[in-house]
Amino acid sequence: MLENYQLVETLLQQPLENGDVVCNLCLWRCRLRHGQRGFCQAHVNRNGKLYNLSYGIISAIEVESIRNKPVYHYRPDSRVMSIGSYGCNFRCKGCHNLEISWGVEALDKLARGQSSDAFATPAQMVETALKHEVDGIAFTYSEPAVWLEYVLDVSRLAHEAGLFTVYVSNSFVTDDALELMAPHIDVLCSDIKSLSAEFYKDICPVGTVEQVLESIKKAAELGIHVETRTNVIPTKNDNLDELKGVAQWIHDNLGADSPWHVTKFFPAYKLSHLPATDNAIIDAAAEAGRAVGLQNVYGHSDISCDCATENAPVSAWLELDSAALEGINQCAASCCGDEGILVKKFEREAGLLAKTE
Ligand code: SF4
Ligand code: SF4
Repeated sequence: MLENYQLVETLLQQPLENGDVVCNLCLWRCRLRHGQRGFCQAHVNRNGKLYNLSYGIISAIEVESIRNKPVYHYRPDSRVMSIGSYGCNFRCKGCHNLEISWGVEALDKLARGQSSDAFATPAQMVETALKHEVDGIAFTYSEPAVWLEYVLDVSRLAHEAGLFTVYVSNSFVTDDALELMAPHIDVLCSDIKSLSAEFYKDICPVGTVEQVLESIKKAAELGIHVETRTNVIPTKNDNLDELKGVAQWIHDNLGADSPWHVTKFFPAYKLSHLPATDNAIIDAAAEAGRAVGLQNVYGHSDISCDCATENAPVSAWLELDSAALEGINQCAASCCGDEGILVKKFEREAGLLAKTE
């Protein structure tokens, strides 16, 4: 295991005769020439070999209830340490995590060797989780397949230390990646963003809803505990018949007892002009899910905004104990604003963050 940051060879890479390499971590299956980076920006071809740029680079960290993921049917009273890195294989127009998930600038700096981002070895990460007395580690904030090399190394050590692992995903991942992760991941919390081909095309030009659904089904077949989530966005995917279709798919393919979480959209990024989802729509979607026979449907009027995740610098989590973090792990007073729009980008500049040094 590494002690310091360095490029780590990408898992599931397939070299071609002309020096190009295909990355088979996610369904983009990027084919990259020397010097090129994948769609996620986190993998680079250097002289015919692919390397992951984000191994051990932590963009966000938080300790919270597993119910925030949301996961309700796996150790529901437990706490997890959520971590994420830069790089995502989707470009959702209402993404709340732009800086900590896409991290385009951060990945550019990593590629140029100019980054000063926090690096943590897998062992340090597990030690940090034990120090904060959590029960599991959740890989979240962006698509974990994009740094699967690190996710697997941390997960192996986490299991050895008695911690469980949660993988929060958009499920645009290959079967090969799922097979690699299955022995090490206990829970998959996956988005089913929509059943509409156009919806997926809009956020991932090569993505199809069928691929996503197949991937979720495969994860369940591999024995991973699966819970699904649909974030209902006004005018985009709030058609009740369509939402009923999502519930029906879950019922028919994952089982009547498979948990489905319907969450509320809060305006962000290019969808900042849309209103937050009306609670009545969340309730109606949940009711539609029950009507098709799903037994465990949860409508959430409070989950979606994860603005607290950046309020403490990553280094604070690695270095301080839980008690010392108590005072700084709080949402900056006005960070959601009346409309729920995230402005965390501006929090630091505006002096809204508590100082830790
Ligand atoms: S993880 Fe996906 S997006 Fe990133 S390089 Fe590999 S195939 Fe491309
Ligand atoms: S999958 Fe998640 S992190 Fe990635 S762009 Fe979409 S909302 Fe953002």
